[in-house]
Amino acid sequence: MSRVLVVGLDCMVPDVLRPPADELMPTVAGVAARGVGGVLVSTLPPITVPAWTSMLTGRDPGELGVYGFRNRRSFAYGDLVQANATMVRAPRVWDRLTAAGRPSVVVGVPQTSPPPPIEGALVSGFEGPVSAGAPFTHPASLADEVGSVVGEYLFDVPEFRSAALTDVLSTVYEMTERRFTLMRHLVTTREWDLAMVHEIGPDRMHHCFWHFHDPRHPSHQEGSEHQNAIADYYRFLDGQVASLLEAVGPDCAVLIASDHGATAMHGGLCVNEILREAGLLVLREDPVGPTPLTPDLVDWTRTRVWAEGGYYSRIFFNVAGREPQGQVARSDVPALADEVRALLSVVDLGAEGVVHNEVRTPQELYRRVRGIPPDLLVFFGEEKWRGIGSVGFGQSWIKANDTGVDEANHSRDGMYALAAPGRLAPAESRDASILDVTPTLLDLLGLEGEPDLQGTSFLAGRKTGP
Ligand SMILES: [Zn+2]
Repeated sequence: MSRVLVVGLDCMVPDVLRPPADELMPTVAGVAARGVGGVLVSTLPPITVPAWTSMLTGRDPGELGVYGFRNRRSFAYGDLVQANATMVRAPRVWDRLTAAGRPSVVVGVPQTSPPPPIEGALVSGFEGPVSAGAPFTHPASLADEVGSVVGEYLFDVPEFRSAALTDVLSTVYEMTERRFTLMRHLVTTREWDLAMVHEIGPDRMHHCFWHFHDPRHPSHQEGSEHQNAIADYYRFLDGQVASLLEAVGPDCAVLIASDHGATAMHGGLCVNEILREAGLLVLREDPVGPTPLTPDLVDWTRTRVWAEGGYYSRIFFNVAGREPQGQVARSDVPALADEVRALLSVVDLGAEGVVHNEVRTPQELYRRVRGIPPDLLVFFGEEKWRGIGSVGFGQSWIKANDTGVDEANHSRDGMYALAAPGRLAPAESRDASILDVTPTLLDLLGLEGEPDLQGTSFLAGRKTGP
C-alpha cells in the first residue's frame, strides 16, 4: 500500500512528456521517466465534466449519466442543468477511502461543489460554490483556514472568453500559485492516504493563447508578444508541481494526469443551421443575425430534430409521447437517426473543403446509458471543429466560436505520468485509458473495486476489469 498524490492538470497535452517540450516541464516528464507515462485517452465526450468524474470513479459518462457540463433534467425543452457533486452516482476514490475510515486531501477537483462530506479535507472545484456565500469546503470550518493561508481562494479565471488577455495571464498565475500554496499547506498539516489537486490553469491558457503557441493553428502569427505565454506558464506550473512533490517526499506514489488534451480550433459547424436547411428544425421566424437557439424560437409542431452546441454536439429528437410537443413516432426514431447520421457525417464547406464527423448513438459509446442522454453525439473533424448551437448565420460554418473567444478545442489525447517507488519499475511509454486510473489508484491504495470496472491498473499484470 502506498500514499498517493494525484496532480490533475486540466487539458494538459502529452507533448510535454517528449522532446522538445519536455524541457518546459522537467518535473512532469521526470515522473514519467521514473515510472511510466504517455497518452491518456479521454472519455467521449472529451470534456472536463464528465472526464474527471470518469477518471475517479472508473465509470464512463453513460454509466454516470453525465454527458457534459449541462444535462437534461427532464424532457421539457431547454431544461438543462449544470452537473454538480450531488449528481455523481458512483463512489470516487476518496469515497472508497472514506468508507474505510482513511483520510484524503482534495483541492479543486471538478464536480465537488457543493462540497461532499469526506474523511479529511476538501475544497470545491473550479465551478466554485453553488451560489454566492455557499460553502466551498469540507469541513465548513476549513474555509477560514484557506483564507488565512492564501487570502481569497481563486476557483477559476472569471469570464476568460471575454477578459483582456493580460488580465487572463495575471489571474491564471495568481490562481495557480494560491492553489499550490494551499495544497502544500494541507499535505503537510493533515493526515492523508490520498491527496489530489486539480489545476484549471492549463485549460484556460490553451483556450486563450493556443494560436500564439501552435504554428499549425490557422491564425498563428510569428513574433506575437504572447508567443511564449503557454511555454512560460508550463515552466511556472512545473515549478509548482516540483515544490508539491518535495512537500510529499520521495516515497509517495505520484500520478500526474489530464482529462483531455488540446488541438487548434479551425472553426465551428452551425449544426442547427444544417438541420434547418434539411427541414428537420423549423423556427417561428428567421432570426436577424446570430441568435442562441432558445425554445421560444422553435416551431415545435414542425420540428423533428435540434442540437446543442459546444466542443461536440448533442442531437435531440422531438419524440411523440416523450417531448411536450413530440412529432417523431417512436417507431421512426431508428430511421431518423440514420437520416441525421447521413446528413452530419460529411459536411461540405465549399472552398474550405470537407469535414468528416463521427456520429454515434449513446448505446454505441457506453455500456450503460443513464439519465437523459442525447439521441446522437457528434464529434466534428477530429475535434478541430466545434458545434455551433446558435442560428441566424445563413451558412453552415463559421471561423469563430459563438459563445466567446476560443482558440483550442479539446482533443481526446490527454496525458499521464506515474511514478510509484517500490511498486512500479520504469517502463516504456504507453497509451492508456482514462478508465485505467481508478483501478490503478485502488491498486496503489490497497482497495478493492467492483469486478465490473472497465479499466486496467497501470501496475504490472493486475487486471481488474472483466
Ligand atoms: Zn478539462
